Amino acid sequence: MVKFIQFLPLMILPLSFLSCLPAQNADPDYVLVIHGGAGVIRQSEMSPENEQLYKSGLQEALDAGAAVLAAGGTAEDAVEASIRLMEDNPMFNAGRGAVLTNLETAELDASFMSGKTRNAGAVAGVKTVRHPISAARLVMDSSVHVMLAGEGADIFASEKGLEIVDNSYFVTEKRLLQLRSIIAPEKNEPGKKSEPLIKKHGTVGCVALDKAGNLAAGTSTGGMMNKRYGRVGDSPIIGAGTYANNATCAVSCTGHGEFFIRNVIAYDVSAIMEYSGKTLADAAAFVIHDKLAALGGTGGLIAVDRNGNIAMPFNTDGMFRAYIKSNGETAVEIYKTPNNGK
Ligand code: ASP
Repeated sequence: MVKFIQFLPLMILPLSFLSCLPAQNADPDYVLVIHGGAGVIRQSEMSPENEQLYKSGLQEALDAGAAVLAAGGTAEDAVEASIRLMEDNPMFNAGRGAVLTNLETAELDASFMSGKTRNAGAVAGVKTVRHPISAARLVMDSSVHVMLAGEGADIFASEKGLEIVDNSYFVTEKRLLQLRSIIAPEKNEPGKKSEPLIKKHGTVGCVALDKAGNLAAGTSTGGMMNKRYGRVGDSPIIGAGTYANNATCAVSCTGHGEFFIRNVIAYDVSAIMEYSGKTLADAAAFVIHDKLAALGGTGGLIAVDRNGNIAMPFNTDGMFRAYIKSNGETAVEIYKTPNNGK
């Protein structure tokens, strides 16, 4: 007993020292994750100027969303703020700078989901609304529907006061050249059909956890280059391209949309967590690296769970992605890393 009392100070000292250290594993108050598309994105093929433009575009979108969350704003407001900036940035395949249909027009898709209410909204094939993500959010917040398509969606957005632009606003010189370079072989070889360009997906997306513990997800895209006009991908489809549930996670996808629809990718991550108790990292990695890859699908996703854990798996060469947590952790990444976005 005497011996124990003699050693007591020596035992307490290290413990009191440990209690002074910041709690390393404390859950962050808020988290924001964004993506700017996945695909054949290789450092060897990227100019330093373009790399800088992508990084600054991601950083700007990250900062805008994080500012909303830091000020105590909602996950929905943060997601919308981030995505609107990426829609305005011609580097990304959403809003201005979107990829083009086989008719050289822009047809835009977007969706939004709140993890708190599990309410959702989406627009498909809009041609004149400058910020499709805001139209999707308005469908969620101010209509009794979940998805509006085509002209009706454009008119709805206009009636709700969103900015309307001519379709040519979205069409950049760079995208026109890209489209014409892939449809040229078709003209030279009659009968040969060019396929939608799936080498580089540039869709944008954002998921967030706010200080109140609520999750939200949004996705916005021009779809796939040279898509047949009228084609709708996964991005505006709740459960395929976007999903959020406070009980599990918020997810936004990017990749070859047809495969994401067939695998119901975004919902699958949530369902695996809900029904099998897997962690977000395990569920997301399984869905992208096993299920999607098994059918030949390419792409990736970003996700955050209710504890602020994140996952950013992709099975392509790269994925434009970035995240920030209230505890100061942050990164902007483009290429494959050793853990491949896990
Ligand atoms: N998923 C989008 C689509 O298929 C494209 C992309 O993510 O780049 O429309």
